[in-house]
Amino acid sequence: MKTLIIIRPDAVIRGLVGEIITRFEKHGIRIAGLKIMHLARKQAEELYKQHKGQPFYDRLIQNMTANPSVFVVLDTDVLDRESAIALVRKIIGDTDPAKAEMGTIRGDFGLRIDQNIIHASDSRESAEREIPLFFKKEELQTYKE
Ligand code: ATP
Ligand code: MG
Repeated sequence: MKTLIIIRPDAVIRGLVGEIITRFEKHGIRIAGLKIMHLARKQAEELYKQHKGQPFYDRLIQNMTANPSVFVVLDTDVLDRESAIALVRKIIGDTDPAKAEMGTIRGDFGLRIDQNIIHASDSRESAEREIPLFFKKEELQTYKE
């Protein structure tokens, strides 16, 4: 199974790209797709369309389009199928960096909820919707055991 993470502009600016990718690699999770891209407003709105109308929505879109982000498709086949998304979300930590446990990406590096440093698909359905927004099928790799 594949899932998407986005290393958001604030993390890219702060030089945290390698550190964040390392956290997943250390769990044996492999990289299936990787690119750096400066999101257009339309793309950010499509990604976060479920939050349209929220008080934080405009700042979220502004934050996502301010600078380039790094897009990573993770191949979670090494993990238990049922818990893959949950483990990825656990590595990331709570949405609010103040609540996120130390040892998680947001707990260790996050500063503010409205400038979150990382996005991750929150379900299999979200992953299936979000990956094709940023990657063509032929841009994704598969691994042989
Ligand atoms: P993401 O979807 O980015 O992985 P998440 O699933 O943990 O984060 P969501 O509820 O989907 O959290 O929120 C999406 C993004 O919207 C968050 O990453 C954060 O930047 C912003 N956000 C969410 N809730 C708030 C809030 N209460 N105040 C400010 N910003 C918020
Ligand atoms: Mg979310």
